[in-house]
Amino acid sequence: MRTLLFVGMALTLVFGFSTSAEAGDCCMKAKAENGACCGTAYFAGQQIKSAKLHKALAGKKVEGKKIECGGCEKALAKNSSCHGCKVHFAKGKAYRSPVAQALALGHAIPADHMKCGGCKEAAKSNGKCEGCKVQFVGNLAFKSEKHHAHALKAAEMLEMAIKASANCEDCAVGIVTNGKCDGCKVAFKNGKMTKV
Ligand SMILES: [Zn+2]
Ligand SMILES: [Zn+2]
Ligand SMILES: [Zn+2]
Ligand SMILES: [Zn+2]
Repeated sequence: MRTLLFVGMALTLVFGFSTSAEAGDCCMKAKAENGACCGTAYFAGQQIKSAKLHKALAGKKVEGKKIECGGCEKALAKNSSCHGCKVHFAKGKAYRSPVAQALALGHAIPADHMKCGGCKEAAKSNGKCEGCKVQFVGNLAFKSEKHHAHALKAAEMLEMAIKASANCEDCAVGIVTNGKCDGCKVAFKNGKMTKV
């Protein structure tokens, strides 16, 4: 009985992988909204296999809710950070991770919705479409050059965290939150690791 159950779970996992490789219509929505579908979670268009990492990246909707801290209130209005509370805001959501915030400021455009050839090229090279004056990190579009520069760095750190999550999920969370991993006795700051 136990063996059967295990085989069932393993099959679900395998099935989850194989469907996510060619994400179906249901997954497209999850992909665009940093959600999860068919057993795979997404952030900024990337597959996130670690639930801990996905949770650390997730944003909480705070727009329209009562905010106690004046610093947070200001930061929410300006898509910036409240350093006292270590909370980062983007488009009405609060993030624990500055990496998540930087990427969340982009506007996700699904590949098949991209009409302009220049934009399609720019999305491939993380570059700029001169015609549309839009810059890309993958399929995330940024109007602001500053936000684009932050997002480029953030995308690197997200990639680093995804790789790290295969070995240690706490290190992965540390990378995206400038936090530390007690197990490995290391701390992270802007993608750099130091021993603690
Ligand atoms: Zn799906
Ligand atoms: Zn605050
Ligand atoms: Zn364009
Ligand atoms: Zn670790």
